[in-house]
Amino acid sequence: MKLYHIGLSVIAACLTLGACQVTNKETKTLIKPEFTENDMDLSVDPGSDFYEYANGGWRKQHPLPDDKSRFGSFDLLAEDNKKMVRSIIENAAAEKGEKGSINQKIGDFYAAGMDLEKINQAGFTPIQPLLDKINGISNRDELTQLIAYLQKNQLTPLFHFYSTADQKNSKMTIAGIYQSGLGMPDRDYYLEDNEASEKLRQAYKTYLTTLFTLVGNDAQTASELAEEVFAFETKLAEASNSRLDNRDPHKTYNKMGLAGLSEIAPEFQWSNYIGGLEINTPAEINVSQPQFIAAVADMYAKEELSTWKSFLNSVVLRKTASALSEDFVNANFAFYGEAMSGKKEQEPRWKTVLDNTNGALGEAVGQLFVAEYFPPAAKKRMDDLVENLRVGFGMRIDQLEWMSDETKKAAHEKLAAIRVKIGYPSKWRDYLGLEISNESYLANILSSNRFDFAFNMAKIGQAVDQEEWHMTPQTVNAYYNPVANEIVFPAAILQPPFFYLDGDDAVNYGAIGVVIGHEMTHGFDDKGRLYAKDGNLNNWWTEEDVKKFNERTQILVNQYNAFEVLPGQFADGELSLGENIADLGGLCISYQAYQNSLNGKENTTKIDGFSDYQRFFLAYSRVWAQNVRDKEIARLTKVDVHSLGDNRVNGPLPNMEEFYAAFNIEEKSPMYIAPENRASIW
Ligand SMILES: [Zn+2]
Repeated sequence: MKLYHIGLSVIAACLTLGACQVTNKETKTLIKPEFTENDMDLSVDPGSDFYEYANGGWRKQHPLPDDKSRFGSFDLLAEDNKKMVRSIIENAAAEKGEKGSINQKIGDFYAAGMDLEKINQAGFTPIQPLLDKINGISNRDELTQLIAYLQKNQLTPLFHFYSTADQKNSKMTIAGIYQSGLGMPDRDYYLEDNEASEKLRQAYKTYLTTLFTLVGNDAQTASELAEEVFAFETKLAEASNSRLDNRDPHKTYNKMGLAGLSEIAPEFQWSNYIGGLEINTPAEINVSQPQFIAAVADMYAKEELSTWKSFLNSVVLRKTASALSEDFVNANFAFYGEAMSGKKEQEPRWKTVLDNTNGALGEAVGQLFVAEYFPPAAKKRMDDLVENLRVGFGMRIDQLEWMSDETKKAAHEKLAAIRVKIGYPSKWRDYLGLEISNESYLANILSSNRFDFAFNMAKIGQAVDQEEWHMTPQTVNAYYNPVANEIVFPAAILQPPFFYLDGDDAVNYGAIGVVIGHEMTHGFDDKGRLYAKDGNLNNWWTEEDVKKFNERTQILVNQYNAFEVLPGQFADGELSLGENIADLGGLCISYQAYQNSLNGKENTTKIDGFSDYQRFFLAYSRVWAQNVRDKEIARLTKVDVHSLGDNRVNGPLPNMEEFYAAFNIEEKSPMYIAPENRASIW
């Protein structure tokens, strides 16, 4: 769904307003799309490796910083953005707002996180009461209560309990249960028989051992506890769905009441658990992975209480480590940063504290951010672009050979019904009732977690709030939400290299235009097509359409499966299919919209020696310029539904005749694909 995540994006204000603040004034006001020998590598033939041709210079100038596992032009924007958000937070802190005010909360949250001396002195005392609670459990009733208590604090021990739109009645909010409980990012790491996974399993056990040692166990005991927890998690992994299964909305739609839950997972005390969450019993609960919940219930009955305690201790330690003293932070980094992602050093502390402040008070910070950095002119230009993209997509739908007339009609209706959110929400969330002080960083995080949990639980049984945003305005990203049939572009993505307020059209269509098209196609891809225009899971395609669509997308699957990302490791064309369709579709649609904008005239102006069509493709490519560590390539290939930067460029472009034409690429070129072998979907 998201461009990155993990999600998966402002400066524009600086381009027009005198109010632009200290940060980035110099750089941002001067930012123009630049395609010169400086940022490109003109020694590379564009038909051999367009990604490198377009970005070679950029990649040399931006070597990987030691605290990053991946760094691209996208991240560069996110980094600049963080500096802007930091100035907002520091200003709020400097104002020393009254107790209970937004400035007080933002200021104290950030200040408590930055007070490393105090945090180091406290060691693990902030979690001691939680650990005592766990170690004091004497029966299964108390175990259930504790699992609920941890969930309420969003320390999610086994499965997420949350609120979500009902996929088949998308205007209503119901409860949801989703598998969790693993300390490594995917079930495969526990189950795969290969050297890389085995190494990570050892590193993970070392991490758990360190955590247990840090809370006072001797080395032998700590190592035994780690083994016990690892064996427990392996059972959870065996019961977990694969990522691919989780992409299937039908497989993960299993709505039931409490009685149904008790039927599929009879051993677990569901009423007791719901009571512990301090919510009313939800009438409807979607259980995304019933077999996982059944396995958890079985373990609930069979595993020793002592094993449960070891596991729950490890959950609390893992999930709070980054907010405790430095020895915990370092252990956390050694596994998640170094072993998992290949980072060489930790980010400066202010960045992680800033992320958590954003997590806790996102829309409050966002409100200040928008006032400071988001100019009305950017919104106006985006509104126009989005509508032009909508027209362009409509024209492409009309031209499709493979889609039936009946489905085309429904596709037009769905396209017309897509709601668009740009910049920031029309109403802001209030943080009244959220308690934040400058006493304890961890206490603030948990306070915010409980506040959010209660906020989300209150939605169950209510109509979906259509004005709600699922990303803050200061996030460099964008998303399509299938159950709402809406596309959302936070203020922060409306900056270079995505959006140039005073840039030429070809570049804006190539960059943000493709992003808009990308998000739109998500409503029609292998997953999005399962949702109708009202956001309900409901097939509106004929069988023949599905068959033809699958034939066409299979070409894309095969093309990406052939990309060798590391020696012997290949991209996963199936896992990344939805995103790859969106990249290719976004390019085709935005290209169409750009052509429309010319009104039949030719744009003969060359900039930096490149024609408008060339700049369209160069701007697209620049968005994905990046350097990535090998370990991160291995991890992302397994867990990320998005392709790596080079494949996001060299993957879709050779499927477009317009690309060959723009750069005079000939049949003998390595990137060339014969017309009959190209993927053409939108
Ligand atoms: Zn996407």
